[in-house]
Amino acid sequence: MRIDIISVVPDLIKSPFEGSIMQRAIKKGFVDVHFHNLREYSTNNYKKVDDYQYGGGAGMVMMVEPIDKCISKLKSERDYDDIIYMSPDGERLDQRQANHLSLKGNLMILCGHYKGVDQRVRDLFITKEISIGDYVLSGGELGAAVLCDAIIRLIPGVLGDETSALTDCFQDNLLSPPIYTRPAEYKGHKVPDILLSGHKQKVEEWRDEKALERTKALRPDILDN
Ligand code: SAH
Repeated sequence: MRIDIISVVPDLIKSPFEGSIMQRAIKKGFVDVHFHNLREYSTNNYKKVDDYQYGGGAGMVMMVEPIDKCISKLKSERDYDDIIYMSPDGERLDQRQANHLSLKGNLMILCGHYKGVDQRVRDLFITKEISIGDYVLSGGELGAAVLCDAIIRLIPGVLGDETSALTDCFQDNLLSPPIYTRPAEYKGHKVPDILLSGHKQKVEEWRDEKALERTKALRPDILDN
């Protein structure tokens, strides 16, 4: 997979890719991530990429021309499965969407800033709009990092233990069961006996039961799906 990320502050987004699973996925060649500084596509002497809103009102708007130049250059080099705009009014990111995107070949992600992008950018180039939740961030960079993390860990082969993503929350419309590691007892709090029993099938049954219990208590809404 290849991911191209377009931003006015690309330095803001680089560090999440420099450690842990995302770094490993890049090093092992499962994903290739490229950052593009939108200012390099500005035709303005001051590298300006934003301007005042037509009709008045607070907040600057990202201009269509530099974004067009950047996106068109990338599109001339390869085909993209999706050109994603991070936006609070986009489709809310969930595990189903992450699974779906993890199977793609080339993705482009546009991070907004200031008041957002000129509507014509969305009309002309964007194929998918994604929100990471019902709150407003200062820019799309952190959202793009969240999206990439959710996608990249699902690319087959990225996680060391192949099955570990399958037992994560949301994969079966269920939350994960409780997990424990050593010691078996800590300050009087014991690990459930069943997990120490060595009885694989019973452990699985216990986990299924706890996952269902937890989901009913905390997120009954996802069970309905
Ligand atoms: N005026 C816009 C918010 C702009 S915030 C509005 O009210 O809808 C600036 C940028 O941050 C946006 O262009 C978008 O790229 C990003 N952003 C903000 N909140 C986000 C969210 N919840 N999910 C994804 N991106 C978000």
